[in-house]
Amino acid sequence: MLRYDLHCHSTYSDGLLNPTQVVRRAIERGVDVLALTDHDDVGGLVEARAAIEGSSLQLIHGSELSVSWRDITLHVIALGIDPACAELCSGLAAIRDGRTGRAHRMAEALAAAGIPDAYAGAMKYVTSERLISRSHFARFLVEMGHAHDTKDVFTKYLVSGRPGYVCHEWASLAQAIQWIHCAGGQAVLAHPGRYKVDARALRELLGEFRDLGGDGIEVLSSSHTAAQTADFARYARIFGLRASSGSDYHGPGESWVDLGDMPPLPVGVVPIWRDW
Ligand code: AMP
Ligand code: MN
Ligand code: MN
Ligand code: MN
Repeated sequence: MLRYDLHCHSTYSDGLLNPTQVVRRAIERGVDVLALTDHDDVGGLVEARAAIEGSSLQLIHGSELSVSWRDITLHVIALGIDPACAELCSGLAAIRDGRTGRAHRMAEALAAAGIPDAYAGAMKYVTSERLISRSHFARFLVEMGHAHDTKDVFTKYLVSGRPGYVCHEWASLAQAIQWIHCAGGQAVLAHPGRYKVDARALRELLGEFRDLGGDGIEVLSSSHTAAQTADFARYARIFGLRASSGSDYHGPGESWVDLGDMPPLPVGVVPIWRDW
């Protein structure tokens, strides 16, 4: 049975390893099929493709798109996209453009909470001129002693109701799915267990996602507990969605689930890769 890891990040977004290092680590860890899914960008795929040369690793072109749905932010994983698709590229560029203004607003919100110069501080951790994320602010807040580690940051800062959080309008769910399909890819709702919605809103989300043409959900994710994995396997069956699996690896010291560390998919679901 092949080992799949269909969600991870490089220095082209908020990962700590460059695409070559991600690919090498995946090979060392026995991954057979890897999707590099940087936030709102496909820039790392050229390097990742060069890095698989001479190995048997299969690289899937991916990205993780930021989406606004009702009053929450969702992430939609694109798998098997053509990274040159003009419609997808302009959509991703539009999402990325919004990040800089948002980062300045986050820095203002942190300054109001007594933490000055956070924009410059976060920029020290940015590794792509195209993308700044909350992870970069989180690393700065750890450096300044405001939290033990980045996980701790996201309990005290940068989340709804805490200092440094600002609302932001990303792409719509319909747009994201359309861009992904336009690029020949499959749309997968990332880490559905992470969204702060009640059971009814979750069912509405899954129904809307499916009706818009969404292809699958991440049943296996490092964000999920065993109970959530079982729940989302059931939801996948009920809603007729395929099942995906991804570590969401960001790098050593920041991710406790390493590349390729996910267990096999639960029985009874249709893998997102069934027709690959
Ligand atoms: P952004 O896309 O700028 O909103 O940043 C989102 C990123 O912040 C995620 O992709 C994670 O890398 C990181 N993040 C969000 N919540 C957490 C958390 N609870 N623990 C660790 N990292 C988190
Ligand atoms: Mn991230
Ligand atoms: Mn995510
Ligand atoms: Mn991710």
